[in-house]
Amino acid sequence: MLKFFNTLGRKNEEFRSIEPNKVQMYTCGPTVYDYGHIGNFRTFVFQDILRRYLKYKGYEVTQIMNLTDVDDKTIKGAQLEEISLIKYTEKYTKAFFEDLNTLNIEQVEQYPKATEHIEEMVKMIMKLIEKGYAYQSGGAVYFDISKFRNYGKLSGIKTKDTNRKSRIKKDEYKDEASDFALWKPWSEEDGDVFWTTELGKGRPGWHTECSVIANLYLGKLFDIHSGGVDLIFPHHENEIAQSEAVNDRKLANYWLHAEHLILDGEKMSKSLKNIYTVRDIIKKGYSGRTIRYLLSSAHYRTQLNFTDAGLKQAEASLGRIQDFIGRLKSFDKGKDNPEVTKMCQQVEKRFEVEMDNDLNIPGALSAIFDFLREINRLMDTSSVSKLNANEIYNTMIRLDTVLGLLKTDEEKISEELKDLIDRREEARRSKDWKKSDQIRDELLEKGIILEDTLEGVKWKKKI
Ligand SMILES: [Zn+2]
Repeated sequence: MLKFFNTLGRKNEEFRSIEPNKVQMYTCGPTVYDYGHIGNFRTFVFQDILRRYLKYKGYEVTQIMNLTDVDDKTIKGAQLEEISLIKYTEKYTKAFFEDLNTLNIEQVEQYPKATEHIEEMVKMIMKLIEKGYAYQSGGAVYFDISKFRNYGKLSGIKTKDTNRKSRIKKDEYKDEASDFALWKPWSEEDGDVFWTTELGKGRPGWHTECSVIANLYLGKLFDIHSGGVDLIFPHHENEIAQSEAVNDRKLANYWLHAEHLILDGEKMSKSLKNIYTVRDIIKKGYSGRTIRYLLSSAHYRTQLNFTDAGLKQAEASLGRIQDFIGRLKSFDKGKDNPEVTKMCQQVEKRFEVEMDNDLNIPGALSAIFDFLREINRLMDTSSVSKLNANEIYNTMIRLDTVLGLLKTDEEKISEELKDLIDRREEARRSKDWKKSDQIRDELLEKGIILEDTLEGVKWKKKI
């Protein structure tokens, strides 16, 4: 039985989809004003595993992720570079997709952009005004939280009985319930970024787009909404207020939130200059899969401390799994072992029990490593056959449809490298150790690692 910790209600709940075998899911996407940092990608990796596991369980998943391509930060960035907002956000949208690819994150069904849904946003705001949930003031439109009875149901924030004037003074707030802007009037700082609509000349507030896009692409009620814990308040609280006020019904059944990532024990922040992008880590020589491994290896509801030591450990763990896969692929000796089928079923079962328990990745990984140890031991004594190895390989691949860690394509290398490997083998056979070591080092520089194994000399690419 699949269970999630639902932020709405703060308890573990059995997952039941609205429609059988189908899941509709909304995830808040990035603001495309800069390269995303690894904290953002922790959330995206978690959402990817959630998506992949639902598919593994047999659900057909429809996932929508918005792209915030208009806000204070994108406008400012475009102005600094003296290019149009579209050109500016295009660059970081492209970068975002490249980073997703680096981390082996699956593409979701659709990525609607905020700027392509201004008209629908205006319609929703008009409806909120009509229904008495929103009011106009100084060219802006605000959502009146005192009118929405359930305000605070997600985050637990209390609404203070303050007057409207003091509530609308600030728009950027973190720990205090406040009326929030649905529509912002144009100001000089916005330059050429504005839309002329029934609400006047201006642009939408940030929260507006998610309610509108979710409604448009998924309908009035959908299964899962997710994001980082920093979005619980005010963003998700405000999404609930807008959507439920306009539709008179619940927005989403399950709310899942990923905890913060901290860097060497400290919060990532601009002032501490400790913000790392995926690209920064790649430059240090780590692969996208290693970063993915580290980002997913802690339970999503615990803080993840991202350190260099953690990256090295992730690289080593991933290397062990990848080596195991390599060994399975080329294993061609030993006798048939009738226990193997049962062992494969058991590891799948253990994996599922852990994943069903609110996506307990650490438990799922330890099931895999136990399996790996047992099978390696059997292979050491030739107690599995080629056919067994095949079955084990297929089990690993099936589990990896969820984890997304392995490189499973047949590895291809250039003729030049193949030639080098052959020449090294020749040198070794003729006991020319100096030459053999020299070629080994040369290959390592080119990203090929040679290993002497029980099954002879093997090569692999550096992960
Ligand atoms: Zn959102």
